[in-house]
Amino acid sequence: MKRLTLTALLALTACRTTSHPTQPSTLGVVRSTADLLAVIDQPGPIELTTVASADWAVDRSGLIDLSDPRAKEAKLEDGAEPIQVFFHVLAHPTKGTWWVDSGMEHAWREAPDRAAIRGLAAKFMNVDKLKVNQAPSDWLAAHPSGVQGVFFTHLHLDHVSGVPDLPAGTALYSGPGEAAASSFQNLVVQANTDRELEGKGTISEWAFAGDASKRFEGVIDVFGDGSVWALLVPGHTPGSTAYLVRTTTGPVLLTGDTCHTRWGWEHDVAPGSFTADHAANVESLKRLRTLVSEHPAIEVRLGHQR
Ligand SMILES: [Zn+2]
Repeated sequence: MKRLTLTALLALTACRTTSHPTQPSTLGVVRSTADLLAVIDQPGPIELTTVASADWAVDRSGLIDLSDPRAKEAKLEDGAEPIQVFFHVLAHPTKGTWWVDSGMEHAWREAPDRAAIRGLAAKFMNVDKLKVNQAPSDWLAAHPSGVQGVFFTHLHLDHVSGVPDLPAGTALYSGPGEAAASSFQNLVVQANTDRELEGKGTISEWAFAGDASKRFEGVIDVFGDGSVWALLVPGHTPGSTAYLVRTTTGPVLLTGDTCHTRWGWEHDVAPGSFTADHAANVESLKRLRTLVSEHPAIEVRLGHQR
C-alpha cells in the first residue's frame, strides 16, 4: 500500500523536460530510408566541423550498460569515464550554417554560478570535473556570420548547455516529444533546461511520419536536397534523433546519445542508467550499426567520445 501511494505520488509529480514552447517543424521533408540509401555513399555539399567544447567525466554505469554480458566479459566496472561535450558545425553552401547540439556555455569557465545549470542539477552533473575549452561564444567571435539554428539530438541538459551563448531568437529543432518527455528527475531538471533555452526560438519538432522501409521510426530530409538527414531513434529519450550528414568528404553519422562511447559502439552495448527506455535504445543502436555495417564509408561520431 505504501509503495503504491509513493508510485502514485511520483507519477503525479513527474514533469516535462522543459516548458519552452514547441511547434511542428515546417523545415524538413518526410522521406524513407530507401531515399537516403540512394544517395548515402555520394559525397555531399556540407562542410562539417566537430568542436570539442568541453572535457568532462561521468559515471561509466550511466554511459554503458554494465549488466550487459559483453561488458561483464570485458570486466568493465563503474567509475569516472572521460568524455567530451561537442557541437557540430554544418556549413551548407546556400542554406547557411547550422549546428547539431550546442556544447557548453562560456559561463561554465568564467562564472559557473551564473550558468543556466545550477544548484542541485549542477551537483548531480559532477561539474567539478567539467572544463570548457571552446565555448559557443568563442566560436561566434571567430565566425561573425553566426549560426541559423540548432538541430538537437535530444534535450538533455548537456546538449542544450551551449544555447545561452547563442543570439536571442536562434531557431531550435528537436525530435517529437522531447520537450514533453516526462520524468521525476525533471522536477530538478526543468528549471535548468528552461533557463538554457530562455529567449530563443520556439522548438520546432521534426514531423516524422514513419519510414516506408521500416528501418527507422522516421526519416526526414532536413533541407529537401538530400544533404542532411534526421533519423528518429527513440530510446535514450522518446524523440532521440541521429543525423546523417553528407559532407564533401563522405557520409558522417552523428549518433547523439543513442551511443555515448567508443566502447559501446564497438561492442554493440547501449547506454546504462542515463537512458530512459533501455529496450528501445538497444534496438535503435542496432539499426544505426546495421546502417554503418552496410555502408562502411560512413564515419561515426558518437555522443560523447571521438
Ligand atoms: Zn549527453
